[in-house]
Amino acid sequence: MRIPIPTELTKGQYLGNEEYIPKLMNIPYEESIESASNTILSASYVIALVGAGLSAESGIPTFRGKGGLWMKNGEPGPNQYKTFLKDPKSWWINNINEKFDPERTKFRKAIDNSKPNKGHRALSKMEFVGILKHQITQNVDGLHYIAGSRNVTEIHGSRHQMRCIDCETRIPRQNIEMLLEKHPSSEKIKLLPPTCNECGGIIKPDTVMFGESIPNSVLEECMNQASKSDCILVIGTSATVYPAASIPQKIKNNGGKIIELNPSTTSLSKMADIIIRGQTSHTIPDLTQKLGLQ
Ligand SMILES: [Zn+2]
Repeated sequence: MRIPIPTELTKGQYLGNEEYIPKLMNIPYEESIESASNTILSASYVIALVGAGLSAESGIPTFRGKGGLWMKNGEPGPNQYKTFLKDPKSWWINNINEKFDPERTKFRKAIDNSKPNKGHRALSKMEFVGILKHQITQNVDGLHYIAGSRNVTEIHGSRHQMRCIDCETRIPRQNIEMLLEKHPSSEKIKLLPPTCNECGGIIKPDTVMFGESIPNSVLEECMNQASKSDCILVIGTSATVYPAASIPQKIKNNGGKIIELNPSTTSLSKMADIIIRGQTSHTIPDLTQKLGLQ
């Protein structure tokens, strides 16, 4: 079946062409699913870029969306990492104090209590049969792994890990929590900030702060995946945070296709070749069904 994209648009001449979105929006849902399925099957290396929209359907609040963490609290400043480096001990004291930031505590508890949804599981199925080669996720909740996916890069880090700021060694968050739990409050403070067993460097959560570079090994893997890919599913993200946002652009520039799955129009929509609107816990399973996966 013909992919319902005017030819000139696939050549990348449409950037900034607002007319483009209404044209794609008028394509019936079933037809978009079929086009996406055909595009995926004819591609040689399909990857996905995933954002908070997918995990929102597992009950994890988004950051910027309606009712999102940062909509209530204000977005963290661009110097979040600098503030950490300036005084890691104070940062850690606040970090282990659940009352310091009740919204943050709520967000963390939501992650701890969350389960993968049908969208995560459908992606895992696509990986299992070899259709989906890799997922680059901006989510820190680890739900892709729980759903069974293995080829995942967590570009913004993981809530379940801690990382040495010098040598990038990662340790489970539980190890630090258990270490701190063993000590009374007065003693705990002396243990902060925790340090790396390998090199003595300062330990911080693996989740990447504003103003902090994505760890080299992670960014390299993302760019390596993007350079191999000729088709990307952009799922539940408005792709406005860099460097993640540059990944679909890179694939597009190399002549690849962008399939957007999102309930709303985003800044990426006008770059997309196919748009599938709707809750991703429904649209991804619809797509896997069309691909013949049960
Ligand atoms: Zn280290």
